[in-house]
Formats: sequence, structure tokens, C-alpha cells
Amino acid sequence: MMKTTDEISILWLTAGLGCDGETIALTGATQPSLEDILAGAVPGIPKVNFRNPLLAYESADDFMRHFHEAAAGEAGDFILVVEGSVPDETNKTEGFWAAFGVDENGEPILTVDWIEKLAPRAWAVVAAGTCASYGGVHAMQNNPTGAMGLADYLGWDWRSRAGVPIVCIPGCPTMPDTLTQTLVYLLQQFAGAMPMIDLDDSLRPRWIFEATLHEGCDRGGYYEQAQFAEDYGDRECIVKLGCWGPVVNCNVGKRGWTNGVGGCANVGGTCIGCTMPAFPEKFMSFMSQPPGSLLSSQAIATYGKAINSLRRYTLNSMNQTPAWRKKTAPFYQIEPLTKKDE
Ligand code: SF4
Repeated sequence: MMKTTDEISILWLTAGLGCDGETIALTGATQPSLEDILAGAVPGIPKVNFRNPLLAYESADDFMRHFHEAAAGEAGDFILVVEGSVPDETNKTEGFWAAFGVDENGEPILTVDWIEKLAPRAWAVVAAGTCASYGGVHAMQNNPTGAMGLADYLGWDWRSRAGVPIVCIPGCPTMPDTLTQTLVYLLQQFAGAMPMIDLDDSLRPRWIFEATLHEGCDRGGYYEQAQFAEDYGDRECIVKLGCWGPVVNCNVGKRGWTNGVGGCANVGGTCIGCTMPAFPEKFMSFMSQPPGSLLSSQAIATYGKAINSLRRYTLNSMNQTPAWRKKTAPFYQIEPLTKKDE
């Protein structure tokens, strides 16, 4: 098939161990939306053929055809998106953990077989969500599936045939616009309009994940003034209720969730570190104050309380009209209405 940068497919494999959360989250993206991408409303991207089993018009063989053609090298360029963690199919004597479609004998085709056939032919490979990126909840110690992230399965130094590393877009689920913006970047890179995507050591897009949640959190001002919530529903910083935001790379404090609204800590949900490779074990138990924050919240207490009372004093004075501007009597005297005026 002739190479063209005018058209590409996105083959979205939801058959890892997961909850389809990224596919659902994708429908909530607004900047840009999935519809923007598919309608070609975003500048500099090729025509996109989107193949996701949950969001497809086609079904059964009509849908599976696209994956079989891609595996046979007959589908042109495509980005492979894997959602859900990758199970270890070698750790048992019978049965399987995850599969997608059936072969000519009616036998299930294992998810790992799809990955092994499609990844070498893909222009780029994307791990959507924390399960696909790093294993997530299913990869907790002693899990019988032996689940792992795509980078552990293919290798952290793996490169696509176009030289693109695995692109991890973690989150549980991933913030909707983070999914679409990363896809748009890759589509623009495919079209020759962008340089190689810049990823951090955990293979996340650096421009999205380099700041911590805390650095963009709506409650950051309360933290600095040592004002900490004691109950859910309080408006202050929720670090003492278990928020890990200061040590979690995540953009939802700044970007919100859907259309700029929401985002875990902004709306009172403690950050449990779901975008991190160490999630979930190192962030448990989720409802306890993070050990490191015992020190930082103590350290900030004296400074924060002093600064807060000085600010209250200044704030109070800023709420007063300057004395030189204040009139002792009204500038314009309104005469009371007489009976006749009424
Ligand atoms: Fe930081 Fe969490 Fe407090 Fe927000 S709620 S300011 S992220 S510790």
C-alpha cells in the first residue's frame, strides 16, 4: 500500500484488562473533542478512520475486518491504542485472561496476540490509561493475571517502525482532553507538522504531565496559608484528608475535567495518584494523610498562619475606601418625596 500522510487509522484495542474508562472519557473531551478530530476540524491533521469497538457503527465481522487487515499489513498507516493492562498468558496451563474476536476456527484471539501482530506494523503505539501504561489496579502484587503495562510488555525502549516510543497517557481514567490532545499531537507529527513527541521518563507527554496536581490546584492558596479541611465538603486544602497532589504529575487541577469544569481535588476529591507508575500500592490507604505531608503541613503551619493573619489585616484595609476620598456627607442630597409627588 502506498504511503500517504493524508490519511491514518486509529485502531483502539479495548481488550486489555480494564473498564473501558478511557473510551468513555474520550466522549467527554471538548478541547478538542473526538468529533472535532473525526470531522477534520483541527488544523494540520490527516483524515482519521477511527476504529473502537464501543464507539463503532459497524459490528461483528464488518468491524473486525479492520483489525485483521492491519495485522496482515493491508490497512495503511495506523496508530494502535491499547486500553487495559496486558495479562501474562504464560502463567497457567489452560484458559486465557483476555481476548478480542475469534479466528477462522471460532477460537478467541488473545489480546497479547493482537498486540504482537499490530505493534510492529503501527506508526505509533499509545497506552491509554494507567492500566495500559503501567499495569494499574490489576497489576497489584500477587494478582493472578500477572498483568503489566505495555512498556513492561514490549520494553521501555521499544520504538515503532517510525521511531516513536510508546506514548503513555495515564489516568484512571485519563482526563478526556489529555487523550485527544495527545492524539492530535501524534496526528500532526504523522503529517509532518510537529517534531518527535517529547516524553518524560515514564513515557508521558512532558508538556501535559510535568507539573504536579498541587501546582495547578484550586485549593493551593489554602495550603500556602496552612488552612486545612477537617471534613469532606470543607473548602480548604484536603491534604490532611489524604490528598497526594504535591507529589503527583497530573494536569487536572489546571485543566479541570470536562470543558474546564471539575478535576478531582478542585471539587473535593483527594488525589490518589492515579497517573503515576507507582499507583495504586504506594498511595494506599487512600483515605489517610500522606506521610510526607505530615512534615510539609507542619512546616508550613507557622509561616502560613502568620502570613494569613497579615493578609487578613491587609485585606481588611483594602476593603476600606481611602480616607482622603471619603466624604463626611453625601455628595448628592436626595430630597424625600412629598405626598404630592407620590
Ligand atoms: Fe495540593 Fe491536594 Fe491541597 Fe490541592 S487539595 S492544594 S493538590 S494538597
